Amino acid sequence: MTDRLSRDRPTFSVEFFPPKDEDGETELWKAIDRLQSLDPAFVSVTYGAGGGSRDRTIRTTSRIVADTELVAMAHLTAVSHSVDELRAVLRAYRDAGIDNVLAIRGDPPGDPLGEWTPHPAGLSYAGELVRLVKEVDPGFQVGVAAFPYGHPRSEDVDSDLRHLVAKIDAGADFAITQLFLEPDGYLRLRDRLAAAGCHVPLLPGIMPLTSARTLRRGPELSGAPLPPGLEERLAPYLDDSVAFRAAGIDVTTELCAALLAEGVPAIHFYTLNRSTATSEIVHRLGLVEN
Ligand code: FAD
Repeated sequence: MTDRLSRDRPTFSVEFFPPKDEDGETELWKAIDRLQSLDPAFVSVTYGAGGGSRDRTIRTTSRIVADTELVAMAHLTAVSHSVDELRAVLRAYRDAGIDNVLAIRGDPPGDPLGEWTPHPAGLSYAGELVRLVKEVDPGFQVGVAAFPYGHPRSEDVDSDLRHLVAKIDAGADFAITQLFLEPDGYLRLRDRLAAAGCHVPLLPGIMPLTSARTLRRGPELSGAPLPPGLEERLAPYLDDSVAFRAAGIDVTTELCAALLAEGVPAIHFYTLNRSTATSEIVHRLGLVEN
């Protein structure tokens, strides 16, 4: 996968979540079919907090590997799992031909901002999970999560950076950021990582601004600030969903263009299992080879 990120031109990747029902499955596969033709560097599938969605992540990612030409990455969290269970999931990934894993600690079930309590026979931090993934199979390529404005539970940006560097030192091959709405935090983080001697690809995670809800929920969920200029720019469209979408796609395209001008190797899109906005943006950015 890192080979696909080091081609001589920038590229993009997309993130899906495993569908809950048949309608969701149909929608996801429509998005996969459409995005596949645009040749993303990879597609990733998230891992739900409870054990119930574990099988859906394995099933969805395995089907992408079996039925498409796409490079697939499965996420894995340490939530509610013993180390033995984590090993079993990793073996299932390996047996399905999944070569890439995003190793994340996860949030406490129920209240994402609540106190983290590890499983009694489990792990406490993502760095330990990175080591476990490499121990199960050193051939896995491993990614980790990064936070341009610090993880909501981190005491300060310095400790946050130290822990990110430790995850990379534990063997991570690349990192993907939490979503954000202006480039500064990402660029600062990239500079600070480079100053700390870390040169793995840092992919900016971007959610296309397709509705007033995504504008509101993004900063709430990510801890990234809502830039005042952006709020002002989009305020006239809050009651007109069609005009909001058009302006939101413009804003997202400009953000991605600014990041590409700074030399990012790829943009990672949070697609919410839809293809239209991502497809529109990557075409406008010239990220699709014709
Ligand atoms: P960690 O890196 O373990 O960090 C958690 C906190 O502990 C931070 O404050 C960190 O600074 C601190 N810390 C880290 N290491 C140490 C240490 N050794 N000692 C002391 N403190 C430490 N959630 C899901 O449930 N499923 C998903 O599929 C999913 N995918 C995601 C994909 C991306 C790209 C991102 C950015 C997030 C994703 N999340 C997902 C959310 C993620 O689970 C939460 O953000 C979670 O709170 C943190 O996970 P982490 O891997 O960053 O944890």
